[in-house]
Amino acid sequence: MSTLIDPELIRRYDLPGPRYTSYPTARHFQPGITEAIYREAVMASNEDPIPVDLSLYIHIPFCHRPCFYCGCTRIITRHAPRVTRYLEQLHREIALQGAGIDGDRIVRQLHLGGGTPTYLSDAELESLMLALRRAFTLDPGPEREFGIEVDPRTIDRSRLAHLLALGFNRVSFGIQDLDPLVQRAINRVQDPEHALALLQDAKDLGFASVNADLIYGLPGQTRESFQTLIEAILGAHPGRIALYGYAHLPEQFPFQRQIPSAWLPEPAIRLELFLTALERFTTSGYRLIGMDHFARDGDPLLDAARAGSLQRNFQGYSTYAGLDSIALGLSAISRVGSLYAQNTKDEDDYLASIRAERLPIRMGYRLTADDVIRADVIERIMCHEALDFDAIGKRHRIRFQEYFAPALVRLKTLEDDGLVERSSHGLLLRPAGRILRRVVAAPFDAYLPREGRHGHYSRII
Ligand code: SF4
Repeated sequence: MSTLIDPELIRRYDLPGPRYTSYPTARHFQPGITEAIYREAVMASNEDPIPVDLSLYIHIPFCHRPCFYCGCTRIITRHAPRVTRYLEQLHREIALQGAGIDGDRIVRQLHLGGGTPTYLSDAELESLMLALRRAFTLDPGPEREFGIEVDPRTIDRSRLAHLLALGFNRVSFGIQDLDPLVQRAINRVQDPEHALALLQDAKDLGFASVNADLIYGLPGQTRESFQTLIEAILGAHPGRIALYGYAHLPEQFPFQRQIPSAWLPEPAIRLELFLTALERFTTSGYRLIGMDHFARDGDPLLDAARAGSLQRNFQGYSTYAGLDSIALGLSAISRVGSLYAQNTKDEDDYLASIRAERLPIRMGYRLTADDVIRADVIERIMCHEALDFDAIGKRHRIRFQEYFAPALVRLKTLEDDGLVERSSHGLLLRPAGRILRRVVAAPFDAYLPREGRHGHYSRII
């Protein structure tokens, strides 16, 4: 696929831009979305004559040590009572949330993210799953998508088997890079053999989907070291690979100041690393899914892409569309109907709020009718290869070409540059447009012209 892409073109469009895990992006969330407003939205969604199924996200913020590149909400600690305190309140939050949700709404999707979910012991994870089963109706069937992010440094084959027994059927390993020099530069030293063996163990044990997360653009990465990483991952043959670009934003993420800019690969090398991975993965049986995932035959993400049911959310890409998302834990973001509601990012505030039997919602956003239409268009662009004007028009009762006339004018340059092909019925993303989806989506974003791109967002590549 990379042979179809002109590196010069990518370079020209490699500007900062939103990743569109939501529209509008979380930057636009405001105070004023309260527990009462959220509860109202949940009650309204309970009333839907056809029960709206659920996606649950649980945030486990703890990590043993800081990876310097990381931009997640995490707490670096080895202090067990602090973890216990958090888990006690998380259990209560699960009960508080569950009490508001009708039992005929099935949890089809569950994701434990962090932080490091596998920071927790087997017993803690077991008790968490028990609390979730008590509070919600979890789908027991094979179609469920119950995933957990795994730090290879915290787990072995027997712990993996335990996760499977708890009901997880998807597992995502934070591999990032296996080169010792890069690992030291990012403060994430792990045994490459152990990490690769875990990918094999997960497949052998029968997880329906096994993912490896990789990052390009890390300090110390070279063409050679990255090529070695790619070949090692291809050798392990996971069903899915997520390839993220390191976003160096030290003003936002203080730990990134530990990474001197001089250690980062030059922009030209960074692009080369990306294009090399793209080339090797797509010529080794993987298909590019969305902007940064690769999946091979047999992985449900590829099935969803083929069926047109791929979805974009705060965890990246997933297979179920049209679910309400209930998120628990520090900083977690729920979406119920057209309402986003975010929990506090402050640990003490979180604990105190739940001790007082209050959901710790502090921020959010209620989508306007215009936001809903634009969010749909942007999600289609982020997930699929084509945008059908008539289908969007029918769904939202608009004349697409009139409604989006200014956006279509802005798209003209992208058409001229070969990122998209436009007909009277829709848009087709060409190979460069699939890599630069964020660029193709941007003309439909009503907020971007007002806020500007710089300073807030990572570069496209
Ligand atoms: S990358 Fe993961 S393990 Fe590392 S500090 Fe961030 S959340 Fe913790």
